[in-house]
Amino acid sequence: MIVDTFRHQGMRKRLVDDELVLQAIADVPRHLFMDNAFLEFAYQDKAFPIEAGQTISQPYTVAYQSQLLLLEKGMKVLEIGTGSGYQTSILYKIGAKVYSIERHKVLNNKAVTLLQELNYNVKLFYGDGFKGLPSFAPFDRILITCGARIVPPELVKQLVIGGILVLPLGPENEQVMTTVIKKDADSYEMMSFDKFKFVPMLENKAP
Ligand code: SAH
Repeated sequence: MIVDTFRHQGMRKRLVDDELVLQAIADVPRHLFMDNAFLEFAYQDKAFPIEAGQTISQPYTVAYQSQLLLLEKGMKVLEIGTGSGYQTSILYKIGAKVYSIERHKVLNNKAVTLLQELNYNVKLFYGDGFKGLPSFAPFDRILITCGARIVPPELVKQLVIGGILVLPLGPENEQVMTTVIKKDADSYEMMSFDKFKFVPMLENKAP
């Protein structure tokens, strides 16, 4: 007898989605997101310094966060912490409609220029990610790419019911990768995953 339940179908779908993440990582030329001088570091699986004392996330971390988002093509995604624009580009290549916020003007400017050159059609904003983008809400998914001490309440508000927020949650020295699933207008469930170390999510520091 052939058994093919919802669960099997769900697991199969995950395989396909993970395939989307891997394909996106294969497609996006990571060396363009780093200074020329560091060309030989671009394809090492490591984080690396960019301007303004920030880092471009390790490819492993980018894949890890992207998979936790359980993305489907066409979903509206908000990223906090554009940085180099690398993770932004991966989300775009997976097929999401991407909005991303960065609090350092120099990084925002660079990412705008590069992503335009690459013809990646994403919306980049200079601002404070804690506030999100209320005028573009709600989002199907939200991804925080800096270490957050708390689950930012404004961001949960800007999620659709059933939407997922992925964030590294915890103090500056170490965070636990966490997914927040919005159950209804005022409650959510959390799940914890592996430990990571991100640059901090700063509050009330930008525009
Ligand atoms: N996704 C980036 C990772 C950059 S590191 C990449 O792939 O390159 C995290 C970024 O979050 C930094 O650029 C930092 O400036 C930014 N950041 C920190 N706090 C923020 C806030 N409150 N709002 C927006 N961006 C923030």
